[in-house]
Amino acid sequence: MKFYNLNEHKEKKNFSQVLQQGLGTNQGLFFPEYLPKLNNKTIENILNLNFIDKSSYILSLFLKKEIKLKILKKKIKKAFNFPLILNFFNTNLACLELFHGPTLAFKDFGVRFMAQMIEFFNKKKQNKIIILTATSGDTGAAVAHAFYNIKNIEIVILYPYKKISILQEKLFCTLGNNIKTIAIEGNFDDCQNLIKQSFNDQELKQNLNLNSANSINISRLIAQICYYFEAFSQIPLDQRGKKIIISVPSGNFGNLTAGLMAKVIGLPINKFIAATNINDTIPRYLHTGCWKPKKTISTLSNAMDVSIPNNWPRIKEIFKINNWDLNLLESKSITDLETKKTIINVFNKYKSILEPHTAVSFCALKKYILEKDTFNIFLGTAHPAKFKDYIYDILHKKIILPKILVNCIKKENLSYKLPNNFLVLKNFLIKNYII
Ligand SMILES: *Cc1c(COP(=O)(O)O)cnc(C)c1O
Repeated sequence: MKFYNLNEHKEKKNFSQVLQQGLGTNQGLFFPEYLPKLNNKTIENILNLNFIDKSSYILSLFLKKEIKLKILKKKIKKAFNFPLILNFFNTNLACLELFHGPTLAFKDFGVRFMAQMIEFFNKKKQNKIIILTATSGDTGAAVAHAFYNIKNIEIVILYPYKKISILQEKLFCTLGNNIKTIAIEGNFDDCQNLIKQSFNDQELKQNLNLNSANSINISRLIAQICYYFEAFSQIPLDQRGKKIIISVPSGNFGNLTAGLMAKVIGLPINKFIAATNINDTIPRYLHTGCWKPKKTISTLSNAMDVSIPNNWPRIKEIFKINNWDLNLLESKSITDLETKKTIINVFNKYKSILEPHTAVSFCALKKYILEKDTFNIFLGTAHPAKFKDYIYDILHKKIILPKILVNCIKKENLSYKLPNNFLVLKNFLIKNYII
């Protein structure tokens, strides 16, 4: 299948090209040339497969011309090598726990699939690829673990010195081998600027095969379609006749885009709720029709502190090509106070601990449910252990840390520390990667 540029419809590329390129000309996002529509019988058959077979089937709809099914399945097995759990709170309310991967957040799905695909398509060329990326915490960890020990790929991750938590730092700065991490004396914007300068530098461009592991990469998006199908499979048969409602905690809206694609393909989901924190550009847009992004505000659910969601053009495209009314999309903006109250109430009522992003998705769902006879899912995007200090403050509960965190806390931080200076970074790259 080809993918077209939403800003330049004539620009069409294969998956392998789009995977490498990330963005198209004129900063356009790529989008599948068509979204396959499956009949009920086929959907039923897919739902009966295990998660790996199901994912292989779904992704082969997009990739079958470029990768043999058998190889695709092998890659998916490596990428999705952790469980996915629909955790029931009561008979018609459940959390889809997407946070059991190596870095305890749902981004593991998309990034690990992207890493496997980059490895596969690079194998034929045997080029050394250098992936240069900046992180304010979580994405860096997902990228580092996904590409760890992958042949011919070197990873360089910049992050702001002393501006991320020690736990976050240990999760990706202790790996070594092909993963280099650099603490920059500056803030996250400085890190992003250094990356931009590197991509624009002629000497680096000519000598290094630089690549980004950007969140807008189409490979990350299509990987996320798979878990919506898996969630549906885990709904008990006697509940499946009900209206299915899914609440998605959203920042850049990649997760929701994947959910809507699953619906187009044929998964019977009745309603999606776009749950945001007070960075509410989309809820305001849907309620008033005015597109007016405001300055980004820091919140408890910091991975969703986004005021210009970069996947929104893809969501608009999905509604346009299906002739859907944007009113079909529900949206709620949740304050930090509501988030905190939700964490406390959910603990008291269900004895479950939610972290802030998941609490936003729960709270939006609760605000929406008006109808009877629904089956309600809220997405859990991060493990509560990642927010253990905050949770201790409000619930006075200690969280048992998952093994992966316990292990890396003991390891040495291997990061370099550099000033916020492009020439110093450039020299670092030349010294390490140009032989
Ligand atoms: C990135 C992230 C989100 C938001 O996902 P989008 O696809 O950007 O909307 C939500 N929760 C957590 C924990 C995240 O890391």
